[in-house]
Amino acid sequence: MKQGVIERFRAFLPVTDQTPVVTLLEGSTPLLNAPRLSKELGLPETAVWLKFEGMNPTGSFKDRGMTVAVSKAVEEGAKAVVCASTGNTAASASAYAARAGLRCVVLLPDGQVAAGKLAQSLIHGAEVLAVAGNFDRALELAQQAAKELGLALVNSVNPYRLEGQKTAAFEVVEALGRPPDYQFMPVGNAGNITAYWTGYREVATRQGLGLPKMMGWQAWGAAPLVLGKPVARPSTVATAIRIGTPATWLGAMRAKDESGGTIARVKDAEILSAYRRLARLEGVFCEPSSAAGIAGLVRASREGLFSQADRTELRIVCVLTGHGLKDPETPKTLPHKWKRVPADFPALKRALKTR
Ligand SMILES: *Cc1c(COP(=O)(O)O)cnc(C)c1O
Repeated sequence: MKQGVIERFRAFLPVTDQTPVVTLLEGSTPLLNAPRLSKELGLPETAVWLKFEGMNPTGSFKDRGMTVAVSKAVEEGAKAVVCASTGNTAASASAYAARAGLRCVVLLPDGQVAAGKLAQSLIHGAEVLAVAGNFDRALELAQQAAKELGLALVNSVNPYRLEGQKTAAFEVVEALGRPPDYQFMPVGNAGNITAYWTGYREVATRQGLGLPKMMGWQAWGAAPLVLGKPVARPSTVATAIRIGTPATWLGAMRAKDESGGTIARVKDAEILSAYRRLARLEGVFCEPSSAAGIAGLVRASREGLFSQADRTELRIVCVLTGHGLKDPETPKTLPHKWKRVPADFPALKRALKTR
């Protein structure tokens, strides 16, 4: 079986035999059924499916786009890549640049990056610059650096990124045997929802299939697409979607409008509740941003979105964009079953009885 996004989907990607393939064998991520979550939402067990993109090599969907962007950068003779990032793009760029032997410069909003993501950029040897500003400012600086210093920009404004990312839609259709009825996902810079919509449209055309309704979710304090204007100081616990000026604004709006879907927002408390609920009900640990899509699903089902649907045939895909281990701090902020015990068995027995 072919492995890695470029080899698996070569015919649908902007590569030729001349393109050197820089890969960590990304993609081919699991599409897990979520029977217990489905039931809690009052749906049949077969309704909800989780596309667990945290299973990519660096722990997020960014790898799908990065393999194409870095391969094309090498083909075009680049010696260095640059990106601005809330963490996962940087982690991915750092790993793929290391693999290609390229210099990698990452601009991170100072103090706003989850620990695991920063650790990845550091260990892969990227030049990490913590910018005293938010993500949106870091992206402006990265674009300027690309233009004036001749570095290859590997943010999602790089069209090769979205080409690679669209392959996740191909995998979903392959696994379900058809497109889902709905797709729920978080939206930050809006590249990913745009890429999925492109992917679904392409398979629909090739195979004569229908299209899912695209349900994008922003965080309450970082919801420019919902408010219809940029947010100067975006704020949310979901750092990967803490973005005030989405770079692919129009793409997201088109995905929503053309599919008959929605772009709405959920509160941080809903995100954290969905985050923990998913881990406990299904054994799947995603990062807080990824749980925004699950929080959206909980809200939409409570509001009766599926009450008219043919429930036995209903298929809902939730994209879990990144792995929970990326952000080891957030779980500690929530209440858990946890206590200290003396190192003797009677104490252990007492502790287990009184829980
Ligand atoms: C990048 C990222 C997002 C947001 O994706 P966009 O393409 O910017 O909308 C969401 N979740 C995680 C974990 C990410 O890394």
